[in-house]
Amino acid sequence: MVFDIEMIKKVYAAMPGKVEATRKLLGRPLTLSEKILYAHLYAPTTAAYERGKSYVEFAPDRVAMQDATAQMALLQFMTCGRDKVAVPSTVHCDHLIQAKTGADADLATAVDTNKEVYEFLSSISNKYGIGFWKPGAGIIHQVVLENYAFPGGLMIGTDSHTPNAGGLGMLAIGVGGADAVDVMAGLPWELKMPKLIGVKLTGKLSGWVSPKDVILKVAGILTVKGGTGCIVEYFGEGADNLSATGKGTICNMGAEIGATCSVFAYDTKISDYLKATERAEIAALADGIKDTLRPDAEVYADPSKYYDQVIEINLNELEPHVNGPFTPDLAWPISKFAQAVKENNWPEKLEVALIGSCTNSSYEDISRAASLAKQAVDKNLDVKAEYTITPGSELVRFTIERDGLLNTFDQIGGVVLANACGPCIGQWARHIDDPNRKNSIITSFNRNFAKRNDGLAATHAFVASPEIVTALAIAGDLTFNPLTDTLRNKDGKEVKLDEPTGFELPAKGFAVDDPGYQAPAADGSGVQVIVSPTSDRLQLLAPFAAWEGTDLKGLKLLIKAKGKCTTDHISMAGPWLKYRGHLDNISNNMLIGAVNAFNEKTDNVKNQLTGEYAGVPVVQRAYKAADIGSIVVGDENYGEGSSREHAAMEPRHLGVRAILVKSFARIHETNLKKQGMLGLTFANKEDYDKIQEDDTFDILGLTTFAPGKPLTVVANHKDGSKDEIVVNHTYNEQQIEWFKAGGALNVIRAQFAK
Ligand code: SF4
Repeated sequence: MVFDIEMIKKVYAAMPGKVEATRKLLGRPLTLSEKILYAHLYAPTTAAYERGKSYVEFAPDRVAMQDATAQMALLQFMTCGRDKVAVPSTVHCDHLIQAKTGADADLATAVDTNKEVYEFLSSISNKYGIGFWKPGAGIIHQVVLENYAFPGGLMIGTDSHTPNAGGLGMLAIGVGGADAVDVMAGLPWELKMPKLIGVKLTGKLSGWVSPKDVILKVAGILTVKGGTGCIVEYFGEGADNLSATGKGTICNMGAEIGATCSVFAYDTKISDYLKATERAEIAALADGIKDTLRPDAEVYADPSKYYDQVIEINLNELEPHVNGPFTPDLAWPISKFAQAVKENNWPEKLEVALIGSCTNSSYEDISRAASLAKQAVDKNLDVKAEYTITPGSELVRFTIERDGLLNTFDQIGGVVLANACGPCIGQWARHIDDPNRKNSIITSFNRNFAKRNDGLAATHAFVASPEIVTALAIAGDLTFNPLTDTLRNKDGKEVKLDEPTGFELPAKGFAVDDPGYQAPAADGSGVQVIVSPTSDRLQLLAPFAAWEGTDLKGLKLLIKAKGKCTTDHISMAGPWLKYRGHLDNISNNMLIGAVNAFNEKTDNVKNQLTGEYAGVPVVQRAYKAADIGSIVVGDENYGEGSSREHAAMEPRHLGVRAILVKSFARIHETNLKKQGMLGLTFANKEDYDKIQEDDTFDILGLTTFAPGKPLTVVANHKDGSKDEIVVNHTYNEQQIEWFKAGGALNVIRAQFAK
């Protein structure tokens, strides 16, 4: 048993009372999200919080970290003065394994290549009481779903797909490493009280349609920004009809609409999954307070009264979807997709089809995909595209191997990759003749930004359910609609694929030989954590300097970024993942994916000191060497995509003083604040157009920096003219303290030093 049953008992013992008190406080019935949030306040409140406005301090039950983000989080944690984490926490080694030839060889290479990092994570986990999941054990969110998620819980994770655990009725929120440090240090974790979107599901899935199609449809409705600042709560008979892992898929991809997290209410499907994963004790405890773990009945009766927005989807009418390319909210029902491919001139030939990942590698997903693979064999069909399978965990991999499903994939030439992120995060040594050739791939993953999977700008990546991905792999053609079209088999006969079939849970139960878990030492005081001073992978952190106490003057424009600027653009993954524990080295990727608005190029900006153009980090290092601060200007939803705080730490480390944008993605904005940066937004978005390439900036009003009070940015133009631009911010009192101290960690360290 790896989960902490005593902690869960404590949560459940207190929850009904806290929920009743909240009902009284708010004077009305409660949604599920409200029940969980108010039951996890850091300190009791006597006043209701305003959704979308109030900053609230919470006490999460757990922390989960993946290996890429854990490095920086734990490097920070080890400087904060505690000898043990304050809440149950885990580390998962999943992001650093590159997919090249297949599971065994790739895992062996990763263990060798990342030895130093794995040893650091293993030893620091051992020392500070953190559960450690070794490389090959599985992907963080699948492992959390199988072992730690529980209905009514609140957890944070240093990965943007942490909300996956919402499939088991938990509020699970993706954060930056600095937030994880707060919670592991026993400090409150702050979040703006989210708004609530209710998604009412009626009807029942059937045939080719899967839970993935629910979220692909929702992404089309809400777009990548539509969930920002919101929890998405699913309810209705259609929700209760979905498997627990299907619910997990939907919650996982809530990250693609910018949602804080998504959640389903406790039901028999969740109970069944808990029992199947050796957590019958939790199911029994949850049954004891099951009304507390669902919204109040009145909420179902009149949802628009309790949610800020309500969407209704009839699962009986839902079609399979394919979303993409380049963005997950470009949603196409399968009946319209072939036409879209032709009209947009997207490459029709499908080259690679990839199933699995943390989003879609449940037993149900894999068994349904395998039913199609089996049809390909039985119907004598060639499988035209390359096909890979990424199991989400060793528990899933071992079980699907035992049940013969991997053998079925083998018969169609499928390659089983390691239980790790691999191609989902750009850790993919793809074999392609010409990397500049326009080409199409399809995955059952969640994200499909340009270059996300293989680092190639010419790759058109689409996302769909594992069933649709498998059917299209067999056809090798994006315009194939398995619901209506036939395929010519090796005998020259036209054959049609039957609807996929599968099993929610394995009939013989789950099984695993070695799950890959290392429990921490009971007393870690004697455990040594070693970081070599000559390492190029790991670097101990030095505190950032405090604010100088004056307005900031003479800042140079580093880049005016145009269009989408995700955390991948700001701190690219792929080959850079290996420097996640070394701030100076990874800073050489800062903003190299952002498009310079003045020349439309990436990684090419003007050095105002020389007038020459060079890469963004090169120019910023020149400013830093000259002791000149700088400013980054950006477009809408700046920093969307992931929780990586490197995207905030790198500019901080290299001397950028402010990020001024039309709008921010929530997690990134918080990360900037944690690192002592200024995250500002144009009060008038058209002022973005006033920024010129040779501008020098002054930021005024900092000596009276206060919540809700705009600041002024003066853009001094080269011709001697200037624009005074009003800029807004969302800093509260505490966050202003972080800015003044030079970062949140400086404030924490000072508290423990007292
Ligand atoms: Fe890994 Fe992809 Fe899941 Fe992120 S979304 S945890 S990269 S598999």
